Amino acid sequence: MQITRVTIHRYEIPLDEPFVTALKPIPELERVLLEVETDGGIVGWGEGAPAYEVTGETQGSTVAVLKEVIGPLILEKDPIAVERVVDDVWSLVDGAPSARAAVEIALQDIRGKAAGMPLYRLLGGAAAEPTLSAPKVLSIKSPEEMASDAADAVESGYEQIKIKVGDEPATDIRRVQAIDEAVPDRTSLKADANQGWRDAKTTLEALREIEEFLDVIEQPVSKENIADLVFLRKRLDVPIMPDESVETASDASDLIRRGAGDLYNIKLMKTGGISEAARLNAVAEAANRPTQIGSMVEGHVGTAAGVHFAAALDNVIWNEMVGPFMTTTGVTDLSYDLPRIEVSGPGLGVGVDRDALAELRSEKLVIE
Ligand SMILES: [Mg+2]
Repeated sequence: MQITRVTIHRYEIPLDEPFVTALKPIPELERVLLEVETDGGIVGWGEGAPAYEVTGETQGSTVAVLKEVIGPLILEKDPIAVERVVDDVWSLVDGAPSARAAVEIALQDIRGKAAGMPLYRLLGGAAAEPTLSAPKVLSIKSPEEMASDAADAVESGYEQIKIKVGDEPATDIRRVQAIDEAVPDRTSLKADANQGWRDAKTTLEALREIEEFLDVIEQPVSKENIADLVFLRKRLDVPIMPDESVETASDASDLIRRGAGDLYNIKLMKTGGISEAARLNAVAEAANRPTQIGSMVEGHVGTAAGVHFAAALDNVIWNEMVGPFMTTTGVTDLSYDLPRIEVSGPGLGVGVDRDALAELRSEKLVIE
């Protein structure tokens, strides 16, 4: 089988409301869909969800590297030889993980379709079904508004709440306290500071009164501040999950050696695709550290890849495949019923609605 044509679809997905973290507010999702056609008639879809505040990529830079470098490189390659193509891309392109992820997701989609199997079965097949239950992610707002958002989320069926913090510690304490009071005890509360507390001292100040309510604290300090991650792991009872500090498998290996982190947040848009994400998970598993498959708030195609990854591997215990629940529209037939997402069929198991894509698309580029 050979790749005969690569089409880059630049598109924007509207959000229900702007998404606010300690890093920046996001008014809409700027995404790139990659369509990879083959001489065998199979079409694979991949998605890039660039986040410049994490990896330095924009939608435009992702489109550019796909158009100028990676698209031409993969023409005529065998899409089933995923490892070989991924190696070729890696050896030519440093960085640009969202672009590389888009390509590998499309290749894995083709591989699954060619085998007539859902991707999660090919990647490991740990779960019986490719389905998962997503958390509700709460944007940073006032404590009262966040408590009300949390109560609404539980009312609508969510069992896990991910609380964006990383602001001023005293206000963050009030946020978590108010949310804890607003939801039933059985609701799992996780907090993500997105580096906002910068150092161990501020983190300890922020967590002193709320640690007991949380199942995990994600990336409390600056991504480069590994020494403070190590220090905090010794001082805190709540598990610490590095996110921005861990992009690749070798980052995870380094953090484990240094004693930083109890579990790790894997994102396909940081690792540059599924193979490297699986390596990161394996490194973590070998050190008895579970992982989460996180998201950059992908659209449906990227979300489906995350669902398969989570369902494939036992060590991936949590997810944040929240994209479909934050957007007003999608461009696929992905099936979701809050808070659950289910994929079915071979490959990624999602079909792209070309009319819906055309409505959201701002640019289309064909490489052949
Ligand atoms: Mg995070």
